[in-house]
Amino acid sequence: MNSSLIGKIEKAHRYAQERHRISLSSFSAEFHGENGDYVLGYDERHWRCSCETFARTRLCSHTMAMEKILGEMLPRGTLTLDPARV
Ligand SMILES: [Zn+2]
Repeated sequence: MNSSLIGKIEKAHRYAQERHRISLSSFSAEFHGENGDYVLGYDERHWRCSCETFARTRLCSHTMAMEKILGEMLPRGTLTLDPARV
């Protein structure tokens, strides 16, 4: 393995610990909840989820769980669990 590749691998390990460098803009995922499977997504700072609770309240345990997992990789202004908003 050449030194250039070794340097890139070392940088990747460091970047993986520095999540503040990443800002997610959109994604979709399947969420396997206790009561069923749901499709959730995030796009342009807005969540969506296929569950009934989200349809009623625009907030659900699935999107809140994803916020906890993704944390600082989501733009702060959109976090429903953001301490500044609670
Ligand atoms: Zn949901």
